Amino acid sequence: MARIVLSNLAHSYLPNPVGEDDYALKTIDLTWEDGGAYALLGASGCGKSTLLNIISGLMRPSRGKVLFDGRDVTDAPTTERNIAQVFQFPVVYDTMTVRDNLAFPLRNRGMDAAYIRDRVQKIAGMIDMADQLGRKARGLTADEKQKISLGRGMVREDVNAILFDEPLTVIDPHLKWELRTQLKQLHRQFGHTMIYVTHDQTEALTFADRVVVMHDGRVVQLGTPEELFERPAHTFVGYFIGSPGMNVLDARVEGRIAHVAGHAVPLAAAYANLTGRVQIGIRPEYVRFDGSAGVPATVKRIEDVGRHRIVRADIAGTAVNAVLPEGTDVPSPGDRMVFAPEQIGVYADDWRVAPVDRETV
Ligand code: ADP
Ligand code: MG
Repeated sequence: MARIVLSNLAHSYLPNPVGEDDYALKTIDLTWEDGGAYALLGASGCGKSTLLNIISGLMRPSRGKVLFDGRDVTDAPTTERNIAQVFQFPVVYDTMTVRDNLAFPLRNRGMDAAYIRDRVQKIAGMIDMADQLGRKARGLTADEKQKISLGRGMVREDVNAILFDEPLTVIDPHLKWELRTQLKQLHRQFGHTMIYVTHDQTEALTFADRVVVMHDGRVVQLGTPEELFERPAHTFVGYFIGSPGMNVLDARVEGRIAHVAGHAVPLAAAYANLTGRVQIGIRPEYVRFDGSAGVPATVKRIEDVGRHRIVRADIAGTAVNAVLPEGTDVPSPGDRMVFAPEQIGVYADDWRVAPVDRETV
């Protein structure tokens, strides 16, 4: 296993990149701690697969270094990196049996036959294919083939890391949950560094201890699911995580007050003068309604979703949502929106800004 460091990394698919737009990965500095269960989360096209392929050695970065336990492997071939990678679509040998497909990475490493037999049996159990070991892969469903790919990714115990690139895309929904649980169990049991790429926040938050959020070729935050929820470092993290996502409103911030649509919103701490586009962010869970205090809002719609209600409203043309727990009164006409001061984040050009008097936040 290894601690993986990406240092001053950037990648362009163009032969002569000029501006930042030419780079699929802008500057990335990131450390994956040995034994961590990570999710790499972001929208389609943000650079997740590019990053994964650079870690595994399928691609060489245009700039920067990849270090495994301090050793520079930027130019080392995949075979030397000792990484298992599972792709979005199955990669199996059609003419081989399920057993031989699973055994392949172990035979390749010259493991002994008895060990291989036991290990293959064990992995086959995990992917629920123990009774199909003698079947040829040809003729299996896409679902089953992908389970074999997953099995092959997990079969070696001696890898530096296992990389999963949206591995459950073609898997049946009910099996998805089961396989994800298996992966998590595998992580607990063997403690491999695992990086699980997904564009699905639920998948990311249930699998990972730490989530790396990417946006437009950049890592915008690395944190625990709780940190991403409570303190989004970038407005994108706010939007992308949570359902509905964080509310973001244009504001003018003066000391401990944010002015939103001409109304004062008290903050829990003071901020220095800010430049760029200034906004405040507040999760819908921390928005309440009040008959007199707060910012005037127009309620558009109220949705009942099981244990809580989502109130869809509008402040001066910006959509703002509130999530009200069961038993809370729905807003009355004329009610204003109140934001819990200690839960408000202040953003300048999309990045969260620290207050001046830190200790009060
Ligand atoms: P993700 O996996 O997050 O969907 P990718 O890493 O596949 O994103 O792609 C990041 C960006 O790089 C996208 O704009 C994509 O179009 C571009 N890209 C990916 N692969 C290639 C390639 N082989 N040649 C040129 N551009 C590519
Ligand atoms: Mg991808």
